[in-house]
Amino acid sequence: MEKEIVVSGIRSTGFLHLGNYFGAVRNYVRMQDGYRCYFFVADYHSLTTHPDPKDLRQNVYRVVAENIACGLDPEKVALYVQSDIPEIPELYLLLNMLAYKGELEKVPTFKDKVRQHPDNVNAGLLTYPVLMAADILVHRAVKVPVGKDQEQHLEIARNFAQRFNHRYGELFPEPYPFDYGGGLTRVMSLDGNGKMSKSANENATLYLADDDDTIRKKIMKAKTDAGPSAPDSEMPDFIQNLFQLMELVSAEAVVTQFREQYRQCNIRYGDMKKQLAEDMVSFMRPIRQKAAELQQNDAHIQRILREGARQARESAAATLREARKLIGVHYY
Ligand code: ATP
Ligand code: MG
Repeated sequence: MEKEIVVSGIRSTGFLHLGNYFGAVRNYVRMQDGYRCYFFVADYHSLTTHPDPKDLRQNVYRVVAENIACGLDPEKVALYVQSDIPEIPELYLLLNMLAYKGELEKVPTFKDKVRQHPDNVNAGLLTYPVLMAADILVHRAVKVPVGKDQEQHLEIARNFAQRFNHRYGELFPEPYPFDYGGGLTRVMSLDGNGKMSKSANENATLYLADDDDTIRKKIMKAKTDAGPSAPDSEMPDFIQNLFQLMELVSAEAVVTQFREQYRQCNIRYGDMKKQLAEDMVSFMRPIRQKAAELQQNDAHIQRILREGARQARESAAATLREARKLIGVHYY
């Protein structure tokens, strides 16, 4: 039986953090055996905010190294850089003809960016979901492992797939977000202020590259409150998030013990954070060390990316041939 096709990408905007791990990379690793996977570094997507050209190369290489350090196996998946696949911007152009200004202006992430940097509302920002749809549809993917923040972008990708199929003929399956049960993940920043992000709120974000003491310091400063005052109280988001992090890195018995303490209103957050910090350090240290080691070997990363691009182009070129034929851009 043919394997189902999976696509997902990470922007080359900085250091990967635990949200990227929880929301995305962890699932990439789980999917690499059972699916035909295309994972990419979204370097074009990072250009919306005009990064310093000097930083891009290192950012791209780091994302690749950190993915592999988390357990991604380039022998099993196609791991490539978005800009190595010219069929992606080609499909983006074609999809742009089916994308309407009004609907793009209504996208919440677009409205957020307009608020954040009103002096740089470029067309790339407005059409970000179109490029993202092209990333996915170019391989005719059906499953997309992403964090909760990407749910709406995927809905837009499904709309474009439907619109294309309706107008020109069946080509694109509808891609759905994928997780292993429990819903899409959203790791909040340690101060409870929005999600962890590569490009914001450095002190409240746990980066895979943080050293042991930095991890400890950040966790000890994580937002908590006075604790529950009645048994079985509902947990505020930022406490839920600490438990979520603990579930990732601590032994089950430890999590159960702190949950029970919470339920009985005698939890001491200081103790919980100390435990979490030590377990987090043990979890993150090997990833950090492996990523640092991989970043010493540019030639190795280049080989991986060239091979990934070869595989991704093969798949993308087949889709573009079909798309052009259906649209009528096909003359010889
Ligand atoms: P940036 O701030 O530059 O957009 P980012 O941290 O949002 O960086 P992306 O490259 O946009 O990272 O997203 C890569 C993947 O990580 C996506 O699948 C996204 O849904 C997921 N992701 C990002 N942040 C989180 C988070 N805090 N919790 C869960 N998943 C996340
Ligand atoms: Mg993002």
